[in-house]
Amino acid sequence: MSDSDFETSFSNLKQTIPLLLKHKVSAIPINYALWYTYVSNDSPELKSALDLAMQHNQSLSESKTKELYRQYLAENQEVTAWELRQSLEAMLIELSQSIADTRTETTSFKSTMDNCVDDLVKVEKEGLSIEEVMSLVRNLVKETQNIRRSTMSFNSALSEAQREIDVLRTQLEQSQQEALYDALTGLCNRRYFDEELANHALHPNLFLFLVDLDHFKKINDNYGHVMGDLVLKATAKKLQACCRDGAQAFRFGGEEFAIIVPNTNFSRARSLAETMRKSIEKIGVKDKRSGEILGDIRASIGIAELKKGMNPLALIEQADKQLYEAKRLGRNRVMPIL
Ligand code: GH3
Ligand code: MG
Ligand code: MG
Repeated sequence: MSDSDFETSFSNLKQTIPLLLKHKVSAIPINYALWYTYVSNDSPELKSALDLAMQHNQSLSESKTKELYRQYLAENQEVTAWELRQSLEAMLIELSQSIADTRTETTSFKSTMDNCVDDLVKVEKEGLSIEEVMSLVRNLVKETQNIRRSTMSFNSALSEAQREIDVLRTQLEQSQQEALYDALTGLCNRRYFDEELANHALHPNLFLFLVDLDHFKKINDNYGHVMGDLVLKATAKKLQACCRDGAQAFRFGGEEFAIIVPNTNFSRARSLAETMRKSIEKIGVKDKRSGEILGDIRASIGIAELKKGMNPLALIEQADKQLYEAKRLGRNRVMPIL
């Protein structure tokens, strides 16, 4: 990054943060990217879309922000919050480095000034009119002291900025983690799911799976909560591995998972659900204490199709109804059949 790029990005950063505060949006990477782009005016289309959205509202809803992000910034599904965080972090590291460099420079500037004072003391000794030299010396000493004071306060301002950056980085890490991901399984969480579904609400050919582990309570009762957690992690991993072509897995809550499957039809969706059910059957989790392998993990899956004009809640209810049906018919199955 060149010096001028660096300066521009820093100046953009300074304008972005107040905007996040003004519009009461949290400093998660997606928001940051959106408002950063707004400030830098890299995308005039995004700028006018944001201006338009703000004409009607003082603050932007999180969903609206996400929609704009998707529309104008996310080039493809691969642009993940993770990557965004990486680049933001890289920028912050660079900024910290530059502050550390500047601090070294100001320190050396201060020592140059100190030498300068020493030289002046020498000039005084070399016999110019004492009044002349003394007045010169007084001025220069005064000047030097001013500069020294200002570099010192500059130094402390830089240290303060550095501390703020460290706090911001930690907050970004936390807010991203808390806002989007489930801590146990690493899958996207329920909150992400709700927003994702709302964003998809206008798209037809979308299917929702609700996956619920069978008799999971017994696993906890027989093997303990720690083993139960390992089973949940293994299930998440299997589900994630089955997700292709835009399908996305979420931890819906407890021992329930949700899968959003866009751009498909019933028969392909059902066959994907079957693949998921079978891959859960293959899970084997080793109990470290006894060395025993815990297997026989089963799941029931309910499928629902997003119909035109259907709201997200109705879609979830429909999938839940099918899940209940799968349980009622004896579990370890995908419903409906046709
Ligand atoms: P069914 O086949 O009808 O779904 O039976 P089930 O036992 O799976 O369902 P139930 O809803 O009765 O029990 C779910 C259990 O999941 C109860 C709860 O303690 C457990 N559970 C929920 N979240 C977690 C978790 O994060 N870790 C562990 N170990 N257990 C969890
Ligand atoms: Mg359940
Ligand atoms: Mg269950």
